[in-house]
Amino acid sequence: MLLDEEYMKAALEEARIAFSKDEVPVGAVLIYNGEIIARAHNQVETLQDACGHAELLCLREGSKILKNWRLLKTTLYTTLEPCSMCAGALILSRVETVVWGAPDLRQGAGGSWVDLLSKEHPIHNLKIRSGVLAEESAKMMKEFFQNKRK
Ligand SMILES: [Zn+2]
Repeated sequence: MLLDEEYMKAALEEARIAFSKDEVPVGAVLIYNGEIIARAHNQVETLQDACGHAELLCLREGSKILKNWRLLKTTLYTTLEPCSMCAGALILSRVETVVWGAPDLRQGAGGSWVDLLSKEHPIHNLKIRSGVLAEESAKMMKEFFQNKRK
């Protein structure tokens, strides 16, 4: 879907901001009524908070904007497969759809490590799309960790 790529590009811009701050480059945007209402990038180092993931910060921002913890009819775009914490937050927030870019083999909760996102849930089931601009995201991650090793 062409729109998927447009929104993912915005998430990748956020990832690039994280990269420039020496944070693991992950970015996310939240869409409501076709508009980006919240955007965030990973800030684990800046905040010294293991929960400072882009997805979580983006959900919080979105709830503030909509003045509602239920993020019904929203779509979250994230450059990396969500971890188990963020997958839990996505389900609890009642986000309608999650779209991610590259897989995360270590932490991914969309099937790479565990599969929380597509597991049948008694209250809320997410729609999922994956692999959108995955190469661009994976390239940025690779570059980030290569620089770290130097
Ligand atoms: Zn996460």
